[in-house]
Amino acid sequence: MSTEKKTQRQNFFLLLDINPNEEWDPDKFVKVLKAKQVEWSRQKSLSVGQKASQAQRNLELIPQIRKVMEDDTLRAQERDEALKELASQQAARVEVFEKRLEFFNAKESASQTEIDKFIKEFQDLYPEQEIRNRITVTIRAEQQVTRQALEPSRAKAIAGKLNDLNMSSLYELLGCPETTSTRILQQKAEQLYRDVSKIATKTQEVTLKSDLAGSAKDIFSSEDKRKQYDESLRQLKFASLFKVLEEQINQSVEKEITYNQTELFLNEAQQAGWDRQEALFQLKEQAKAHKWLVHVRPAEEKSQKVRCGGCHTLNEADQKFCTQCRQPLFIQCPECNETIRPEANACGHCGFPVGNRYLVEIHLQELQDLFKKRDTQKAQQLLDEMKTLWQPKKADRYSQEIKRFQSELQRLHAELRKVEAHVQQLLNQKKYITAKQYLEGPAAAILPNRAQKLNEIQGELSKVRSLFQRATVATLPNNEKIALCRQALALCPDYQEARDLLRTIPPMAPTNLQAKTRGGIVSLSWQPSSTEGVMYVIVRKSLTQPHSSRDGTVLDTVPGLHYEDSRPETGVPLYYAIFAECEGVPSANGALLEQPLLLLQDVTQAFAEVGNQQVKLSWVPPKNVASVLLVRKQNVPPTSASDGEVIGECVPAQTSFIDRDVQNNQTYYYALYARFKDQHGRLATAPGVRVKAIPEPPPAPIHSLEMHMRPGSTSAEREVELRWTPPAKGKAIILKSTHTLQHYEKKVIAESTLYTLGQLLEDQPDSVVDPKVAPGVTYYLPVVLFHKMAYIGTEHRLATVDDVQNVRWQNMNTALRLQWKWPANCQEVIVSSHQLRWPELDDEYSSHTKVSRSEYDRLGYFELRCDKDTDYYLRITALVTQGTEEIPAQGVRLHVHPTDLLTLTYEIKRPTLWRRTPHLHIAADRAGTLPTLRLIGTRDRLPVHKTDGTMICRIEPTSINGRGLTFPLPIKEVAPGTYCKLFLEDDALYQEIDICHPHEDKLRIN
Ligand SMILES: [Zn+2]
Ligand SMILES: [Zn+2]
Repeated sequence: MSTEKKTQRQNFFLLLDINPNEEWDPDKFVKVLKAKQVEWSRQKSLSVGQKASQAQRNLELIPQIRKVMEDDTLRAQERDEALKELASQQAARVEVFEKRLEFFNAKESASQTEIDKFIKEFQDLYPEQEIRNRITVTIRAEQQVTRQALEPSRAKAIAGKLNDLNMSSLYELLGCPETTSTRILQQKAEQLYRDVSKIATKTQEVTLKSDLAGSAKDIFSSEDKRKQYDESLRQLKFASLFKVLEEQINQSVEKEITYNQTELFLNEAQQAGWDRQEALFQLKEQAKAHKWLVHVRPAEEKSQKVRCGGCHTLNEADQKFCTQCRQPLFIQCPECNETIRPEANACGHCGFPVGNRYLVEIHLQELQDLFKKRDTQKAQQLLDEMKTLWQPKKADRYSQEIKRFQSELQRLHAELRKVEAHVQQLLNQKKYITAKQYLEGPAAAILPNRAQKLNEIQGELSKVRSLFQRATVATLPNNEKIALCRQALALCPDYQEARDLLRTIPPMAPTNLQAKTRGGIVSLSWQPSSTEGVMYVIVRKSLTQPHSSRDGTVLDTVPGLHYEDSRPETGVPLYYAIFAECEGVPSANGALLEQPLLLLQDVTQAFAEVGNQQVKLSWVPPKNVASVLLVRKQNVPPTSASDGEVIGECVPAQTSFIDRDVQNNQTYYYALYARFKDQHGRLATAPGVRVKAIPEPPPAPIHSLEMHMRPGSTSAEREVELRWTPPAKGKAIILKSTHTLQHYEKKVIAESTLYTLGQLLEDQPDSVVDPKVAPGVTYYLPVVLFHKMAYIGTEHRLATVDDVQNVRWQNMNTALRLQWKWPANCQEVIVSSHQLRWPELDDEYSSHTKVSRSEYDRLGYFELRCDKDTDYYLRITALVTQGTEEIPAQGVRLHVHPTDLLTLTYEIKRPTLWRRTPHLHIAADRAGTLPTLRLIGTRDRLPVHKTDGTMICRIEPTSINGRGLTFPLPIKEVAPGTYCKLFLEDDALYQEIDICHPHEDKLRIN
């Protein structure tokens, strides 16, 4: 005890083990004292020495104990003393704890059991957590966790085979960092196995690899097996490290492991995947067995080195990037953002295979190289592989990089395909020179098989070159030179040197060109060139001879000795020439025609229009004509230009001629001769065209036409009967068209031209029926045919537009509500009205309102303001727009006489004290006459129309005045819950009477 005692005796509270803080309990005190007395007595008799004498002293104290403890004042003093003493005891214990803690924390490490023991020891002083918080010693693994390793012989066999390949682990064999996920490792193992199996020559290396790939396939087939392998690997590494150390120590005099040696050893062990503390423990165990002393730097116990998962370099814990490989040491998990330690295979939080990042990094590097080498195939393979390697839900640095490579690869593929296609096209065309230049250029640099293609091209070119070399021998005859050059060009069309040589040796010209004409076609034939295998260029030129193959029009290039020009120019001297051509090189001369050809052509559309004492000739002159000679002969046609009387020679621009030197009813024949100039300026005459004419007064055209329309065979069509006064001579027909032919009105044209203008209707001399008149506008032209001439009269226009249908009207007091059904394709009507007579459309004394369909559809009707007691004559005319024209229908007529509306109100009066039955009461807004009325009843609802229910009563026509009318209603037959409504018996009378229905409460009969 550290405090100075006031009394020699022990404090009584403490002696009796009574808590001084507890409330005093005299009974308890008696019991405790008694028990102590028994205890001390026993100790006194059974114990020896100090204990016995202490017991004796205690027994002697009993009377004093009683005295003090049973006296309140003395006991209070004793209690204070006890408390003081307890406090000093506590302080001493704290002192002890602090000392012990210092020692404890100074230990190298402590096992969990040691820590627990320490805590328990001072549990009286502090709560467990408080003590635990103050313990800073490194917790050592309790006992070495016995991890399961591979069966040693198997592990050794694998290590041996790896060693033969100069490799340290299966990871190295597969080219994957140790943090790579097991699934990927297995894939890689399978791939390696497949790859190795394909190798035909089984060298020792191949066999070893195959064996190891097999083992890897098995080991990486499950996480457990992989763990076993990892453990074997760790053990082996430790063993080999220790072996080195052992040799070192064995050579030294002091059997000690120095600070530095320890640290070195631990560094290497950590690099090999060992936990530092665990390695230290193992080292100490081994050293113990060897009786070596291990020096451990105090700081070593807390050394926090971090091993890079990629290159295994040890880095300081606070470093962000590996000093060796520059990769980030700690990353955020791309799935869950957890901070990941560099050695972790998977995220401890979400399981994402973060360890794969080192392999991703390696592959990205490989991709870079593959892209540089343009090895798209391998790059694609690798990218496909990488798809399973790193697939975070949201994109991160690696996945973006992978994506970037993928799109770059696609771009490269597209480019490659383009380049390949271009090269292939050149090769297909055998353009080896161009292909070679292209392949040697920068664009083709991405082709993986560029060198191979160039080699192939070189092979082809050397063949071509040797052919060409032979052609350059000066003594060789030209024909042979040409043949050799052409062989060279057949092999390689862009071999320019051969082409250049050919240009110096043009082919020989063909000879003996002959020309024949028949039916406007020129047939050419010639003798071949003495140069073999040439093509012939056909050249045509008017007026002069062609001098070269480019002088004139090139008609064609043919291999044969015959050509037909089916569209030669007429009316001018035509020259032809044939040139031989060899590989684009034309002969110096051509085969020529001695005399040109002159193709003659007659005038066309020759026509004679007869008149009174005159004949009008008209024609269309042919191209290149010099003049048109007109010859006339009576009764028989002229046989030649000199047979008959020449009445005129017309210049090319003239296209008609009026011969007035003729008699009516005499037959004349006219011949029209086109004349052309030959190469000497002499006129050549075409065979001629002949027309016959008998002059007489022409018929009078028809100007008046009667048209009668009637319904046709279908509802959309009608038929029209057309009538006219028959002409004195000639035959009348009708020309029908959907567009106006006003231009031809009162003209005389050839009958044949009529067919091109429209449809011809002909039947009776004075009438015809058009059976099909479509809606819209139709134009009819009366025509008199006479001597193949058409004498056209005045045009008539017929508009057929459907009328509106189903017109109804309703008196709205101040307006007439009109409703009708619109005809199809009609968008507008005109409502015309007059109070005295039927209105016409062009009648300015009537009122006209245009109503558009959209306007009508908005309301569903059209309302015309009106006065009462006035007659209205209405006409509703549908309009159809055709082009810019508005065509009216016939119009629908309607006569109305709106009167003042009589407005009725009514209600059903329920039975009262005075009236035993219900009554119908009707009131009118003025005096008037009621037509027949019906009261209709329906159960549980209101009737909708006059037949919707049973008739409760019928009211005969009667007059009504301002007081109204009351009718008793039969009730016996009426079902309960019946509602009634009043209707007019004659619906047409709603135009005069308006019934206002009351609220349904006033319509219930019972
Ligand atoms: Zn590294
Ligand atoms: Zn995670």
